[in-house]
Amino acid sequence: MSASAPRLVLATHNPHKVGELRAILAPLLPGLDPVDLVGARDLGAPEPVEDGLTFAANALLKARALAAFTGLPALADDSGLCVDVLGGAPGIFSARWAGRHGDDVANLDLLLAQLEDIAPEHRGARFTCAAALVTPDGTEHVEIGHLVGRLALAARGTGGFGYDPVLIPEGETRTCAELTPAEKNAISHRGQAFRALAPAIAVALGG
Ligand code: IMP
Repeated sequence: MSASAPRLVLATHNPHKVGELRAILAPLLPGLDPVDLVGARDLGAPEPVEDGLTFAANALLKARALAAFTGLPALADDSGLCVDVLGGAPGIFSARWAGRHGDDVANLDLLLAQLEDIAPEHRGARFTCAAALVTPDGTEHVEIGHLVGRLALAARGTGGFGYDPVLIPEGETRTCAELTPAEKNAISHRGQAFRALAPAIAVALGG
């Protein structure tokens, strides 16, 4: 943690997401010094139970808990992969689709096995992200972003995390795991949701 007081906290414990969010937020909030932005773990904040039924509900409950714990404006996101032929699943269960929270390899293997017989034209899917801002005075904002694409027949690429090796964005031939971080951030569900939230974050920071 930095010597100066943080001004904004991020309710994510996923190091890949902390990195992505820092890269996404930096150009949107040029007045915000990187040391003003800290992760929940740096402040010893507990992780609330994510028992919401939508991405937005989960993002809001994480941001509310963190704003209450820290007394600072809090940002949270909740995201996942929604597969057309699975009726939108894994959705809010994306991180624990194979049964164990955060086991990216098992989640991806299970999804590919489930879709083994599904033809390319029926493999539509999207990443969805809800980004929430909650301030200590109780002001709340939520924005939703999508990255629409289709699922590859097999995993490709070494970048990113989670289901990145199987989602091919619309208009692309590469999977998200084959894009550079900057290419992914420019089109990602998370980038879109946080870009939409940026004006509210600027207001919360007093600018
Ligand atoms: P969360 O941390 O509760 O939002 O859960 C997000 C889960 O959805 C992750 O564990 C990934 O499995 C998946 N996910 C969300 N965003 C992405 C992404 O940008 N790339 C790949 N997988 C993602």
